[in-house]
Parts: sequence; C-alpha cells; structure tokens
Amino acid sequence: MPTWITSFDESRPLMNRLAREIIRRLREVLGATAAPVPLHEPLFAGKEEVYVRECITTGWVSSVGAFVDRFEEELARFTGARRAVALVNGTCALQLALRLAGVRADDEVLVPALSFVATANAVAHLGAVPHFVDIEPATLGLDPDKLKEHLAAVVEMRAAGPFNRHTGRRLAAIVPMHAFGHPVRLPELLEVAAAYGLPVVEDAAESLGSTREGRHTGLWGQSGILSFNGNKVITTGGGGALLCQDETLARRAKHLSTTAKTPHPWRLAHDEAAYNFRMPNLNAALGCAQLEQLPGFLRRKRALAEAYQEAFADMEELRFVREPAGARSNYWLCVLALNPAAATSLEAILRAARADGLMLRPAWELLSTLPMYAGCPRADLGAAEEWQPRLCCLPGGPALQPPSPIPNAL
Ligand SMILES: *Cc1c(COP(=O)(O)O)cnc(C)c1O
Repeated sequence: MPTWITSFDESRPLMNRLAREIIRRLREVLGATAAPVPLHEPLFAGKEEVYVRECITTGWVSSVGAFVDRFEEELARFTGARRAVALVNGTCALQLALRLAGVRADDEVLVPALSFVATANAVAHLGAVPHFVDIEPATLGLDPDKLKEHLAAVVEMRAAGPFNRHTGRRLAAIVPMHAFGHPVRLPELLEVAAAYGLPVVEDAAESLGSTREGRHTGLWGQSGILSFNGNKVITTGGGGALLCQDETLARRAKHLSTTAKTPHPWRLAHDEAAYNFRMPNLNAALGCAQLEQLPGFLRRKRALAEAYQEAFADMEELRFVREPAGARSNYWLCVLALNPAAATSLEAILRAARADGLMLRPAWELLSTLPMYAGCPRADLGAAEEWQPRLCCLPGGPALQPPSPIPNAL
C-alpha cells in the first residue's frame, strides 16, 4: 500500500487522536461526501457560458473587446478604485505595478517572507532583489512595527532616497500582502512608508472583497494588484488587475501593458520596451460572469468561516484564524493555527486528511528559504519562522457551504 493511503500511524496515538478530531470536525461542517473536497475550486453558476460564447460568435476573443472594458469598469465599481486595468495574471500585474512605482534593476523591494512565490518573482523579473521582512500573528501579513524598527536599523538616507547601508542598494518600494484575504494594518504601514518616501504597492491577489476600515484592499498604496487565477475568490481562468486612484498611472499601465503602441489608425509604432500583459476578452467574459456572483461568493465564504470557527472553538491544540480587528476579510482560505506541540503533527494531519478526501494544505514555505532567494537581504523573521510551520489551510471554495443554513447567509 502506498504510504499516502495509510491514514493513521498506530504507533503514535496522540497524533492519531488530533488528526481524527480535526477530520471529524471538518466533516461536521462539510458533510460526508464521497468525492474529494478540493482546497479551492471555482464555481461557475452564472452567465459564464453565455458570455464566453458571445466572444466566440462575435470573434472578439483577444486583447480588445467589450468584456475587457466592462470587467474593468465593474471591478473599479466593486472595489471603489478610480481605475482598474485588466491584465494576464497577478504576477504580471505586480511586475507592472512595481515598474510604475519606479523599481529598477538592482533596487531592493521589501516583501513579507510569508507569501506565495509570485510576490518575490515579480520583484526578480524586474532585476530587483526581494528584501524579506517579518509578519505579525494578528494578520499573518507584514508587521508595520517591526518594519519600522528594521528600517531604522538598515536605512541610510541619501539624495536619491533610502539605501540599505549593508548592501548599498536603493530601497524602492514596500509590498504588503493580505495573506489568505486578511488585511494587514495599512494605516500604520503607510505611515512608516511615508517616513522614508517609499511607495506602497499592495499585493491584494488574495483579498478581493476584503477591507480595512471600510476601504478596499489594494486602494491604500500607490497601486494594488488582484489575481483571478483558478483558485482565487473569482476566476478568469488566468488573470489579474492593477487598481489605482490616479488616471495618469492607469493610462501608463494600459500603455505599458499593450506593447507601448502609440495610437494611430494603421501605423505600428511603439515608444518603449514594454509588455504584452493585457487580459484577453475571452477571460474578461468569464470575469464579468464571476463578478456578478462575487457578493454571493463572499457571503458563502463568511458562512463557511463562521461554521469552521464554531466547529473548532473548543479545541485546545489550535485556533481558527479570524479576521483582524478593524478589518473585514473575504476569508479566501480558512486557516487553522496549531499550537507548537500540535504543529509537530501537521504532516500527519495533512496526510490523514488527504486519505479521507480532504485537501488540506500547509502555508507556503518561507520565500527566504527558497533556493533562488536564500541569499537575499532580510530582517529578523522570528514571527514568520514561528508561525509558518503552524498553519493549516482548510477547504474554502465558493461551492462549499456549511450543512445547516445560517440565517441570511445567502
Ligand atoms: C495568486 C497570487 C499572486 C498572483 O498569482 P497569478 O497566478 O500570477 O495570478 C500573487 N501574489 C499572491 C500572494 C498570490 O496568492
């Protein structure tokens, strides 16, 4: 029998009890289904087929079309952004946002050590270097207080801006990431950034629908990015967007994402070495149909999070990660934080759950430990190192619902 089918190791009774208990409570919330329960699967319950078919019958499938404009307008309306620019994916959106923030080759960009690899990749694609900073337990995202301390220790202010006194490189931007949809402390972070004249570009890839003090994530810094990958809150197949409050910046984003083509009825001229990052109409059609369902998806996610929270409330070995104070989270992924003793059983819990058809997942390995980023500059990462091994992501797609209807949940 392959090892992954062995759900319990009978030689470790304590671990077995914990894994069994977690699985039992998950099944209470999710029901006893025969089919595997995915971590986060998309739901197509609206006009997806109608809109996509319209692209095909009209021939507008590529990077120009009515759905692209409509998707951008509706995204801006939903988030409250002045402008939204639809792009091929979240990684490219972040790369573009950072370039627009003035990040150049050999600059350093401050990013949280706990994030999906795309956050650091977008920096590296510009020839810049990620500089890893710590997270805080309350949000699992960038800690503004520790960032402040760290900058005070490493920054040397020069005429050209803040420099890392140890590497001699310019610090060019800060990229907070709202992990699992939970907004970081943006007001405090913006204050630290302003003290050094550092632009903030929010990686809001996971936080469509999440707000801090009533203001949508992605709107606090110079710009923010969203992702519409298959596992995000809504999907366009693959896709992303750049949000900003500045018309000029939005125009620059559009220009750079469409090969910097200069407007002319037939002449093919371009004025910068730019990108082909525009979202195709086909994907935007899917996006328009998904956006129509977004408020319902968010209600379902919250109902599921509430059901998980209740189901795990009395377990000493762990706690359910709740939205931070002052914020409303989209609960993109629901997360359990195991206490240190229980965390030693995380692998066993994941294995046992998978054998039971429940696709749990650990948090990302810290970016600072990945081979391509191991040599990058970093702050003290004590909290990231402490919490990363304790996190366990639960199934949370929009199709999942707790069994007993929660009043007004849908
Ligand atoms: C999903 C994601 C992205 C962007 O991903 P794409 O797959 O390129 O759309 C960026 N950052 C974070 C934190 C993400 O979770």
